[in-house]
Amino acid sequence: MAARLLEVSPRLKSTLAGFDDAPTFSRWLGDALAGVGVGVCEVDDDGLIRWLSAVAAEHLGTDAGLARGAALDDVSFNACGGAAPRARVTRATARLAFVVAARDEAGQRRLENLGRMTTAIAHDFNNLLSVIWSFSDGLAAEPSLTLEQRADAFEIRATAMRAAGLSQQLLAAGRPVRAHARAVDCAATFASMERLLSALIGSGVDLSWHVERGTPACAITPTQFEQVIVNLAVNAGLAMSSRGTLGLLARRVVEGGEPMVCVEVRDTGGGIAPEVLPHIFEPFFTTRAAGKGLGVGLSTVRKLVRDAGGEVTVASTGATGTVFSVLLPVALDGELEVPAPELELAPVSLGAGQRLLVVEPEHAVRGLLYALLSRAGYHVTLASNGAEALFLFNEAQRPFDGLLTATDLPFLGGVELARRVGAGTRALPVLLVHPSDQLPAPTTLTAHCLGKPFSERKLLAQVAGLFREEGAPPTGAS
Ligand code: ADP
Repeated sequence: MAARLLEVSPRLKSTLAGFDDAPTFSRWLGDALAGVGVGVCEVDDDGLIRWLSAVAAEHLGTDAGLARGAALDDVSFNACGGAAPRARVTRATARLAFVVAARDEAGQRRLENLGRMTTAIAHDFNNLLSVIWSFSDGLAAEPSLTLEQRADAFEIRATAMRAAGLSQQLLAAGRPVRAHARAVDCAATFASMERLLSALIGSGVDLSWHVERGTPACAITPTQFEQVIVNLAVNAGLAMSSRGTLGLLARRVVEGGEPMVCVEVRDTGGGIAPEVLPHIFEPFFTTRAAGKGLGVGLSTVRKLVRDAGGEVTVASTGATGTVFSVLLPVALDGELEVPAPELELAPVSLGAGQRLLVVEPEHAVRGLLYALLSRAGYHVTLASNGAEALFLFNEAQRPFDGLLTATDLPFLGGVELARRVGAGTRALPVLLVHPSDQLPAPTTLTAHCLGKPFSERKLLAQVAGLFREEGAPPTGAS
């Protein structure tokens, strides 16, 4: 695979030039760049290697310790072994820094491993969210609690739903599938984020929002829209320390003859210094003290907004604070799916003593399923893997009325388990629980499907659907 050369940014170059003493520089460079996914070499004025990051060592195929003191050209020559270069090195400043290409096979493997790890973490995270979401769901509807307590539970539930959106983004990052834009209604989104934003900006800062009459819905993934607002609000909160106003304003504008939605995020903080302003969207640029900022908030905002076909700009005067303007395309009627509002609590569907075999490998989720389904009137038998489920199925005194199984079971997967016990018929309906809300791979099994994380209502509605005579045709069938 061809190597791609990366240049050190002008900003990094000027930072590098500020270091006069070599050990301090080495420590700084090591700390700052050890976790970065591109290879970095530090050389002295004579071109001899002083430090290689782990990624650079991997790309060059040489041990970082052995490389120290060697001429960079020798190391890259050895790594090439006379054949086509696996990685090439570029000299970015005369003095110190070199950045190595990151896209050879080893780099590709690292990315794949990272993708797998991200997916695994997102799956575990989804399991935990299912527990938080479902129990807060139950509390939000609990009549013995005070209104305030129920409102708190509702907020936990709403935040868990937002976190679920983020974990879907992580899962999407591990797949070559882009998240789909939807029609996002600014007023509904601002209203649903009010408590979260107030908590983020602190008690001394006021929050006000306004959506001008006639503002159309904008086309962006709802979670990404929320992430943009949250990132901008966090910075605004920091800029105002403990006093000021955070204002959100959405209106329709026309840009280059096209109607767009403009979302302004205004603060009354100290503003951004003119020499800082050109750099704020650069990845890893931060003016915050060490450990206080990563410098990725605004670069993420710009990426998300551009992915949605929009643009973000900033205007800042020290006297009146800062305004970020996010321009987004308008969602066209019929082109985009409008998400079903989840804010209302639908009534819970109850069972009538049906016998369910529930197969789930994760301890916490198994406990959750048991609690929710038993409370809703089902007779639940638990298994933690496919083999145990087969045993219970064959040994059962009375046949089960339904099977609920996770698809990601170790050894014997959920779909195979369902096939072996003859599930998917009227006599034994099956609900497949997927690790994410993505559609399952096509299967010849007739099954209902539920993605994680799920709320109590979603789960109970799906389980009730298994036993409904005239119910809608199951999903996942082919
Ligand atoms: P971080 O907040 O971790 O530093 P960001 O990418 O979110 O990273 O922001 C980069 C820099 O932009 C901040 O360090 C800060 O100097 C500046 N900045 C961003 N938003 C504001 C704001 N509303 N007011 C003042 N400065 C800001």
